Amino acid sequence: MINQINGLHHVTSIASEAQSNNDFFTKTLGLRRIKKTVNFDAPEVYHLYYGDEAGTPGTVMTYFPFPNARRGRPGTGEVGITGFAVPNGSLPYWQERLATFDVKNMQTETTFGESRLRFDGPDGDGFVLVETDDDARDPWTNNGVPADAAIRGFHSADMRLRDAGGSAELLKYMGYEEMDRQDNVTRFHVPNGNEANVIDITQVNAPSADQGAGSVHHIAFSVDNREKQLEVRKALMDTGYQVTPVIDRDYFYAIYFRTPGGVLFEVATNEPGFDRDEDTAHLGEALKLPSQHEHLRQALEEKYLEPIVD
Ligand code: ZN
Repeated sequence: MINQINGLHHVTSIASEAQSNNDFFTKTLGLRRIKKTVNFDAPEVYHLYYGDEAGTPGTVMTYFPFPNARRGRPGTGEVGITGFAVPNGSLPYWQERLATFDVKNMQTETTFGESRLRFDGPDGDGFVLVETDDDARDPWTNNGVPADAAIRGFHSADMRLRDAGGSAELLKYMGYEEMDRQDNVTRFHVPNGNEANVIDITQVNAPSADQGAGSVHHIAFSVDNREKQLEVRKALMDTGYQVTPVIDRDYFYAIYFRTPGGVLFEVATNEPGFDRDEDTAHLGEALKLPSQHEHLRQALEEKYLEPIVD
């Protein structure tokens, strides 16, 4: 069994437009944009990162806004709901705030004893704010959400699967423990994790998801450093998983593999972090390009990347 995983590192999804995506995460949800770069594999598309002040692993929601991407169709084999942790008692604030921003499909519910507010992102993305009382993470509060309500980081990710078995085994191998079951949902957590340490598996007999705008592209798990990442990679490969070589993503190192349920998993290092190429005070302001794409800067800025108005 692997014991190097800390919990989630980031969640990466697809959007149909950069500006509305930026506005939703910074203005509506009050997160900080901590990096404005491009998709390293498709540099004509932005890669936008939102999180806490420093982009601490476990707080980082990222997007590929493909202009005019058609909307995805929810289904099985994907992460259907991404959860953010908020303080106890803050859901009435959020309900009122999200209503003023015309957020769609809000619904309050209680799951595993926790009050939560479901809502849709701009492309129909499935989100939930979950009230927790023991989350010590400091929130970003410079975008108008008070500290006693602001998002602390991820709470959980919920995988929607036709068959939970293989993925449950994988999570246990990755150091997760089964905590509880409610209806068709099984909850796992990684002990002594980074607070973003819950994964739910919802087992449902439904057609496969069709990925598009509003879909989660992959979820990434945090490891401290490259040494631990190599240990995880070897252990996964010894167990029969096809894992990519280590890929340099400038702000972390990444490996990817596909789970039995069809969800794309990444394991990402906490080092070097998002302040490697700009001061923490100015994170996310300038367009940062990886060195292999720096020669494209002028063309990207003139032809492909619509300026984002903050
Ligand atoms: Zn990733």
